[in-house]
Amino acid sequence: MKVTADIIAIGSELLTPHRTDTNSLWLTDRLNSIGIEVMQKTVVGDDELRLDHAIRDSLARSELIISTGGLGPTEDDITRKIFARVLGRQLKLDYEVLEGIRERFASRGYQMPPNNERQALVPAGASVLPNPNGTAPGLMIRHEGKLLVILPGPPREMRPMFDSQIMPELETASRGVRIARRVLKVTGLGESALDEIIAPIYREYSNPSTTILFTNSEIEVHLTASGESLARAESLVSELSDKLAEKAGAYLYSTTGESIEEVIGRGLAMKRYTLATAESCTGGLIAQRITEVPGASEYFLGSVVSYAESVKVGLLGVSKELLERRGAVSGEVAEAMARGVKQVTGATIGVSVTGVAGPGGGTVSIPVGTVYIGLSDDVITSNRRLTLFGDRQLIRWRASQAALDMIRRRYLA
Ligand code: AMP
Ligand code: MG
Repeated sequence: MKVTADIIAIGSELLTPHRTDTNSLWLTDRLNSIGIEVMQKTVVGDDELRLDHAIRDSLARSELIISTGGLGPTEDDITRKIFARVLGRQLKLDYEVLEGIRERFASRGYQMPPNNERQALVPAGASVLPNPNGTAPGLMIRHEGKLLVILPGPPREMRPMFDSQIMPELETASRGVRIARRVLKVTGLGESALDEIIAPIYREYSNPSTTILFTNSEIEVHLTASGESLARAESLVSELSDKLAEKAGAYLYSTTGESIEEVIGRGLAMKRYTLATAESCTGGLIAQRITEVPGASEYFLGSVVSYAESVKVGLLGVSKELLERRGAVSGEVAEAMARGVKQVTGATIGVSVTGVAGPGGGTVSIPVGTVYIGLSDDVITSNRRLTLFGDRQLIRWRASQAALDMIRRRYLA
């Protein structure tokens, strides 16, 4: 049986910029690992009416409702009270729980403050979930075929309680349903252009479900399948993944979660190629990205950040005459830079970038966003002109991405 879940994170601090609801991320990961999908998560402040609504909404939607937070001893901790009210169950003082809380205080040499008594209030029919790391016990309630799990907010209390007291129960309930995921990474293509190509295929499938995420220079296609076993889920996800990969063709660079830097690194190492970069407007960004991968020394020789003309001339051997005749942002200079850095480092491949990242420095013929990428190997030296959009940061990032993708397509595809 496929179980769906709702998560409610309770606490006004979670609605401020100072605290993040991390509990639901952690819980989602746990639930997904046993094939339970989260339908909706809600962050709600310590407000009776809003919590009341949130619980009713979740009950209408999901078989499993997990809440965290609001089980403290203070006036603003309303979770017990509102759950009891929504479910129409009376809150009763549980003397065993109360004794436990008293003992916890006593063992540290304190007397229990009267406020903590409210932590021993239990809705009729609920089971109490002991909390070894805090005073607030959790609650588990079966209600009209639904399971409600009410846990304290502090992660160090909530997590062990969930793992030891809730997970085993849920594993049985989800009866072997498993989820498999696959991420397809695409670059060099816009979001709508990609969607036009792949939507006719993924639209035919409801399992796996498909989500498309766009970042600054890449698109990720996330596929999620559920099946009665992991093998079945994997095979569903593979089938669609293979079809989409075929359509995306050379724009696709990974189906295994690898970054483009890793894909390039693996490819260069395998072919025993070495790489060097000459970077003007990217200021070393390509080198930085490539060297983020452990083991990059196997294939990456170095970079010349040739920002000034004197460095292009002095270190890369770009001719002064060429710079004057064509200008620093030109295809010819990009080629001379790539050839130069290949020569001085002895690399198999030289890559260069020269362009206008802005915001100033653009002209009518060479507007902001104009970037030339040069590639040079033993056989051929070439360049490509790009027109990139965005602010300075984004243009620099997209230029580095285009250069990495050119390396991938030219030498490794
Ligand atoms: P409470 O159970 O409401 O007394 O929560 C006490 C503390 O737990 C809060 O001050 C937070 O630091 C932490 N906390 C509560 N809810 C969350 C959440 N959803 N994610 C991460 N931390 C939380
Ligand atoms: Mg709270």
